[in-house]
Amino acid sequence: MTMEFTDRVTRVEPSATLAISALATELEQEGADVVDLSVGEPDFPTPQNIVDAGQDAMDAGHTGYTTSAGILKLREAISEKLAADGLDHGPEEIIVTPGAKQALYEIIQALVQDGDEVALLDPAWVSYEAMVKMAGGDLTRVDLSETEFQLEPALDDLEAAVSDETELLIVNSPSNPTGAVYTDAALEGVRDLAVEHDITVISDEIYKEITYGVEPTSLGTLEGMAERTITVNGFSKAYSMTGWRLGYFAGPKDLIDQAGKLHSHSVSSAVNFVQHAGVEALENTDDAVADMVEAFGERRELVIDLLDDHGVDVAVPDGAFYMMLPVADDDQAWCEGAIEDAHVATVPGSAFGTPGYARISYAASEERLEEGIERLAEEGYL
Ligand code: PLP
Repeated sequence: MTMEFTDRVTRVEPSATLAISALATELEQEGADVVDLSVGEPDFPTPQNIVDAGQDAMDAGHTGYTTSAGILKLREAISEKLAADGLDHGPEEIIVTPGAKQALYEIIQALVQDGDEVALLDPAWVSYEAMVKMAGGDLTRVDLSETEFQLEPALDDLEAAVSDETELLIVNSPSNPTGAVYTDAALEGVRDLAVEHDITVISDEIYKEITYGVEPTSLGTLEGMAERTITVNGFSKAYSMTGWRLGYFAGPKDLIDQAGKLHSHSVSSAVNFVQHAGVEALENTDDAVADMVEAFGERRELVIDLLDDHGVDVAVPDGAFYMMLPVADDDQAWCEGAIEDAHVATVPGSAFGTPGYARISYAASEERLEEGIERLAEEGYL
C-alpha cells in the first residue's frame, strides 16, 4: 500500500536543531567527546523546590485529568505574572499547554488557513516556518542580518513586507537564535504597522526572564496592542524545565475560545502534577532564576572574549543563551565540518532563514565553552 501524505507535512523539514543533537548523540555513542553547543536547553537542574512540588502533587494524587485550560491555581499565578509585566489577562484568557511549542501550534492552527500570509523576522526560530506551513499559510520574511539582528533599523523593511494581506506577525524578543532584544521604538514600529494593517501578533516571550541588563517590554502592553496580541511563554527556559513540558498562551477571549477547542481535542490538558510544579515555579523561584541568569551572563562574556581573541566579532546578545557566529557562506557545510572534524555541534543559520551563520548556545559549562572554541580554532573553523 502506498500512503498519500498531505502537502502540509511533506513541505515541512524535520527540526534542524533536533537533527544536529541526534548527530551529536550518534558520535558520542561511537566514543567521540562532542562539545554540544547546539542545544536550546539550560544545563542546570530544575530547582529542587519545583521538583519537590511536582513530587508532592503526585503523592497527593494530582494525577488525573484537569480542566482543559489548566488548573485555576496555575492560571491565577500566570495571570499575576503577566500583570507584573503590565499585561491584563484573567485566568479565563489563559490556556496552559504542554510546552510553549504546543501553545504556538494551537494559535497558528486557529488563526492561519490556506494562503494566509504570515510575516517572520529572520533569523527566526525553526518551528515557526514549519507550523505556518502545516497550517497552509505562506511566509513573508524580513531579514535582520544586515542590522546586527536588531529590528529598529529594519522597520522600513518590515513596512515594505507587510500589507492588508498579512494575517499574522510573529515577534520573538529575546530572540532564538540571535539573543537580540528589540527596543521599545522597534516594538512601537510593529504596533503602528499591526494597527494600520489589522495584523494579529504573536509575542513569543519564552526568553523574557533571561536578559543581561535590559528589561524587554511585552508587546501587548503597548497602546492598541492588547486586543491583537497573543503572548506566549513557558517554563522550559527560565526554570530549566524543558522535559516537564509546560507553557501557556494568553490573549483575547475569542481566540482563547477557538484555540481552546483545538487544545481540548488534541492534548486534553497539560500534565496535572506538572501544573502544580508550575505554580511553585512562579511563586517561589526568583533566586534560582537570578543565579542561572547570572551564570549565563558570565558565559556570554567569556564566549565573546574568546571569539574576540580569534578575531571573530559577533552581534552581542542582550538575552536568551544564543549568539550567531558569522561563518562561511555555506553554513551547512561549515556546521557539518565542525562537528565531524572538531566534534563541536552548532546549528546552521540557514535553518533559521539566515545562511552564513551558525548558532552557538552557551548553555554549557565555561570549561566546555573554552574547549569548543579552542577546537574550532585548532581545526581552522574560526
Ligand atoms: N519559542 C522559542 C523561541 C523557543 O526557542 C522554544 C524552544 O526552544 C520554544 C518556543 C518552545 O519551548 P517549549 O515548548 O519547550 O516550552
